[in-house]
Amino acid sequence: MRRARGLAVALAAAVLLAGCAQSVDPIERLGKKAAEGVRSRGPAPDRTYRRWGLSQPLPRPPRPATRTLALAPHTAGRALARVVDHVPTRDRVVFLTYDDGAERDPRFADMVRELRLPVSMFLTDSIAGPGYEHFARLHALGAGIQNHTLDHRALAGQPYPGQRTEICGQQDRLRSRLGVRPRLFRPPYGTYDTTTLRAAADCGIGAVVLWRAAMTPAGLVYTRGEHRLLPGDIVLVGPDESTGLTLRERTTRVLRSAQRGGLTAGRLEDYLVG
Ligand SMILES: [Zn+2]
Repeated sequence: MRRARGLAVALAAAVLLAGCAQSVDPIERLGKKAAEGVRSRGPAPDRTYRRWGLSQPLPRPPRPATRTLALAPHTAGRALARVVDHVPTRDRVVFLTYDDGAERDPRFADMVRELRLPVSMFLTDSIAGPGYEHFARLHALGAGIQNHTLDHRALAGQPYPGQRTEICGQQDRLRSRLGVRPRLFRPPYGTYDTTTLRAAADCGIGAVVLWRAAMTPAGLVYTRGEHRLLPGDIVLVGPDESTGLTLRERTTRVLRSAQRGGLTAGRLEDYLVG
């Protein structure tokens, strides 16, 4: 309701401004017309963002200058995967991450394509497995495909062989089904121990990716620190059974919050490299 009234005011203001323009000096008006002519020969303004519920365009993320955060090297048996919940950068970007692979809405792929939205999908084989074609399509659109175990078991406290099977097994599955070799891993429920970090490194994982912000039915919640999105934040766009909002709508909510903070979406894989 408030928005409708705001729109009416904005429209009235626009009408008033247009009215003012009619009364300017005729020569000036001619100049203005010429300028408009120049403008109209340019490409039509892209209003795609409106279709996805945004009130302003989503700016392209800056090109990250250098290796922002190096991953642990491929040294099986001698390294632990590092743990990150944000990327230390001043670039005004946040990173959209999605877990499990239960939601396979083709319209979400349309959103990713039309907005050229960088997203990272952490897939669990037993959940995403029946729909890998959907994720192949997303991957073709530029989405990062990352590891979220074979069976979504809580890993902390489990013996090494079991943890290794969950992680390495999904590495193998994602390579055979989607042709990718993930370097990032998110443990189910965000819980892990040192064994997890060792098993992950042994499976070729460079970083265990948690999140500082999560989109929940109650809105954005933060695991620590300031209760607003900051440059470099990793955002989990979590599942939502209670409000019935689609993955697209939840994504739009995150993007609106980011835009209110002068931020855009960046590609996590451009920052976590190695
Ligand atoms: Zn999960």
